[in-house]
Amino acid sequence: MSDLPPFETHVVVNQPPGFAPRDLWADDVVLREAVRREGAQAFAPRLAEYGGLAGDALYALSFDAHRDRPRLRTHDAFGRRVDLVEFHPNYHALMRAAVEHGVAGLSWHDARPAAHVARAALSYLHHQVEPGTSCPLTMTHAAVPVLRREPALREWAEKAAAPHYDGRDVPIAEKAGVTLGMGMTEKQGGSDVRANTTTATPLAGDEYALVGHKWFFSAPMSDGFLVLAQAPGGLSCFLMPRRLPDGSRNAFRLVRLKDKLGDWSNASSEVEFTGARAWRIGGEGRGIATILEMVMLTRLDCMLGSAALMRMALAQAVHHCRHRAAFGKPLVEQPLMRNVLADLALEWEAALAFSLRVARAVDAAPHDPREAAFARIATAIGKYWICKRAPAFVNEAQECLGGAGYVEESLLPRLYRQAPLNSIWEGSGNIQCLDVLRALSREPAAREALRHELESASGRDTDHDMAVLPLLAELDGGATDEAGARSLVEWLALALQAGVLLRAGSPVAAAFSRSRLGTAHGLAFGTLPTTGVDFAAIIERALPA
Ligand SMILES: Cc1cc2nc3c(=O)[nH]c(=O)nc-3n(C[C@H](O)[C@H](O)[C@H](O)COP(=O)(O)OP(=O)(O)OC[C@H]3O[C@@H](n4cnc5c(N)ncnc54)[C@H](O)[C@@H]3O)c2cc1C
Repeated sequence: MSDLPPFETHVVVNQPPGFAPRDLWADDVVLREAVRREGAQAFAPRLAEYGGLAGDALYALSFDAHRDRPRLRTHDAFGRRVDLVEFHPNYHALMRAAVEHGVAGLSWHDARPAAHVARAALSYLHHQVEPGTSCPLTMTHAAVPVLRREPALREWAEKAAAPHYDGRDVPIAEKAGVTLGMGMTEKQGGSDVRANTTTATPLAGDEYALVGHKWFFSAPMSDGFLVLAQAPGGLSCFLMPRRLPDGSRNAFRLVRLKDKLGDWSNASSEVEFTGARAWRIGGEGRGIATILEMVMLTRLDCMLGSAALMRMALAQAVHHCRHRAAFGKPLVEQPLMRNVLADLALEWEAALAFSLRVARAVDAAPHDPREAAFARIATAIGKYWICKRAPAFVNEAQECLGGAGYVEESLLPRLYRQAPLNSIWEGSGNIQCLDVLRALSREPAAREALRHELESASGRDTDHDMAVLPLLAELDGGATDEAGARSLVEWLALALQAGVLLRAGSPVAAAFSRSRLGTAHGLAFGTLPTTGVDFAAIIERALPA
């Protein structure tokens, strides 16, 4: 017998079990309540199926899809241009799962009421696990109503809405389903697309030749792109196919891929058009109005995407704190950590509840003018505020994991890199706030819809009612102060979020209202009032033990 101690010294204790597999639907009480409240209960079985898949197989696939970034191949071995982007196979597997389950097209291929709410819930589930693929999915979804405007583009609209994914680079006639991208941003102007210099020269009928560039052009392997370019009659919207109907490559070059902070599984390119063929959608000079229909839907997905990042970050944080002890008891029982987790839970619940409320307005919009007007203005408000909150939120959740939250396997670094993006693209924060001012000053229907929504939650909570009063006065005054726009939109967002929670009878409504609309909150998360708020119950609601 040796006197040496056993060599196996490394026993791991006080570390959490793996986060996944996990059922993202069953675990998410707030999502299930919101889906029911917003009328999409009929879709619950489908959402349950996707929640199970997303938290297990898709979660596992997501790591390599993210780590092994897309590569650009401009030429073949013999010098001919190919302009291809190669993705890790898991990227295609994730895209296929998402498209087949309706993340991109459910609201267009399922005629049942509340299909937009159901698709929004699918998008939220998917974004928690692989946000990089959410970009092509949301652009495909949002392009459909624009494509439907032109009877000649019916095949495109039907195939974009279809639950079929086909990542091959072939003409759409050979595919059962297609994906769409969007090209607006140029070097000299992104927010101000009127500065676009790409030209569109009429050929025959609705066909044009595009010459110019786009400075940000995501998902360049999409089958088609909605592109803005200057036609003789002004800035116009076009559908530019990747392959022409005869199978030849359309005349555009991928110049390079962006080396991005995050969003790694998604390719974002710079592109040049050298006489690319495209078909006009809507009238010449109506480009911004035409593409805005698409952008409104992608902005809603930015809200959902940020709510999803919050959700995954929070769930990881609660999971970790339940299984990790410090100074004698689990982190989740430490009073100060409870305050942090509960505060994050309030923020996330409000973000999700408000996003699905807006999705219901999108559903109702075709037959309810007030809901249409509400969707229009609430999207700008929510896009600003929810996306603005996500980076600080994810960082706070990351900190709950300590050093593990800074390490890739925990997923938190990926969520953290992704978090700022939703507030930048699809119109950055200031642009959303200016859009809210524009709607308030020029669109009486939007102003009235907002007033109605704010008033409909009155009488339930003093902090809410006290906050709403000056906002209503501001609406009456016309709201034209550009320098004060962020302040106004922040308060509108908080009041709307509180209103949704109060009307829903959420158990967190009072704490949200008191902390966000009253005076009982600091600037950082974890500053909820320490009396009258049941931290343990809020945390349990966020992620049932
Ligand atoms: C990863 C990624 C992928 C992208 N993919 C695509 C894509 O597929 N297709 C596409 O078309 N675009 C895409 N974009 C571009 C994105 O939509 C733009 O970057 C965004 O709209 C901002 O435009 P910009 O970069 O030109 O910034 P600018 O327009 O120069 O704006 C800079 C800042 O100024 C602010 N600002 C602008 N005007 C005003 C004003 N009047 N008052 C106060 N502040 C103002 C903006 O809010 C912003 O904060 C992508 C961007 C990223 C980061």
